[in-house]
Amino acid sequence: MLLEFKNVKTYFKTEAGIAKSVDGISFSIDKGQTVAIVGESGSGKSVTALSLIGLLSEKDTIISGEIIFDGEDLLKIPKEEMRKKRGNDISMIFQEPMTSLNPALKVGYQISEVFRNHFNMDKKTAKEKSIEMIKKVEIPDAENIYNNYPHELSGGMRQRIMIAMALSSNPKLLIADEPTTALDVTIQAGVLRLMEDLKKEYNTGLMFITHDLSVVAEIADYVNVMYAGKIVEKADVKELFKNPLHPYTKGLLKSRPIIGSKERLSEIEGQVPSPVDFKDNCHFCDRCKYAMDICRKKIPEEIDFNGHKVSCFLYSKERENE
Ligand code: SF4
Repeated sequence: MLLEFKNVKTYFKTEAGIAKSVDGISFSIDKGQTVAIVGESGSGKSVTALSLIGLLSEKDTIISGEIIFDGEDLLKIPKEEMRKKRGNDISMIFQEPMTSLNPALKVGYQISEVFRNHFNMDKKTAKEKSIEMIKKVEIPDAENIYNNYPHELSGGMRQRIMIAMALSSNPKLLIADEPTTALDVTIQAGVLRLMEDLKKEYNTGLMFITHDLSVVAEIADYVNVMYAGKIVEKADVKELFKNPLHPYTKGLLKSRPIIGSKERLSEIEGQVPSPVDFKDNCHFCDRCKYAMDICRKKIPEEIDFNGHKVSCFLYSKERENE
């Protein structure tokens, strides 16, 4: 196993109180596997990634549990070692490539710096490798693109450059946080296919964070559905789409646009509660049409149906004892 989250909680100290953004989640990723974390904004999915790469301010954050990566607990290793892991073994792609690309430097130079820093390459070899990488992410005219600044490229091209940079260090794990959300649908499909192809070639584990179930269907092997700081359902991608169990997952699937369908999309009414207001109950109870008394009093345990896991009292024997 490449990565394992064990009961990870990421809490923030805020003026309004403790925000329990990630509230006790467990999941894993194998080598070469694509695992999606899907949920609305405010579900805690991006905080999950930031907890893993150690980029949260220590002053305001309380993290507990274990994040085991390649046999080591990332929450216990010194900062300097974590910085090295972030550069060598774990890479991240964000929704907006401009947050990671330096606008003042040519894109080719930025890729070549990855080769120079990670593999101690001389300038000439690093340049050749960078051009090879630009070709690999299917940008035409790689030699000229090497000399372009980020603002001279389209959004789709910039995201491909980010993918090239992220994979240049040959990481064991790639985290992609909404990498295609800002892109046009047709360009989105190309970038997804490219990520999938390169992930296979490099045997990289991929943590794919998205709000979009259509994207999940395209790219994921396994899915964690996250709602208000908790993972409420986990399953193999085909199983999840065929047989969703949690009322929230069912709602997400119904609100997914289907090309060619005239059916009106049903939305899940209401909003994700604020993480400072989470109670010891099912966090979905105020939006769930099946909510029972027990849902408002207790946190549902995870129930395992042959690897398809769900946290909901509809499937629990506990409710019969109420
Ligand atoms: Fe709905 Fe209760 Fe299941 Fe929560 S535990 S999703 S409120 S039925």
